[in-house]
Amino acid sequence: MDTQAVRARLLRRREELQSRASSASADLRHESDPLSADFAEQVTQRESDEVLGAITESAREELRQIQAALRRLEAGTYGICIVCGEPIEAGRLAAVPYADCCRACADGQRGGPRRAG
Ligand SMILES: [Zn+2]
Repeated sequence: MDTQAVRARLLRRREELQSRASSASADLRHESDPLSADFAEQVTQRESDEVLGAITESAREELRQIQAALRRLEAGTYGICIVCGEPIEAGRLAAVPYADCCRACADGQRGGPRRAG
């Protein structure tokens, strides 16, 4: 596996998320766009606040997973399922570079808790 390429991809994705999260939170604080006194406009701004909140929450979650993947790269356990210890499918890692378990275990987790071994 080309861990250099994986690391570069994860780092690039992390930068992308971090810049998006910081610009979204700047919008949330209305630094450049103070709340309008007009009621209708306030409603619109609140609605977009909720959208931004959702973006930053999912971005935060993805950042956590990217950090964990970078740690696994350092530890040499990247690409190994944390549940069953089997190699994670290459196609799955290509689609989700920070995947921490194989497809079978991911499916098992969705169906409910299942212990490995
Ligand atoms: Zn597994």
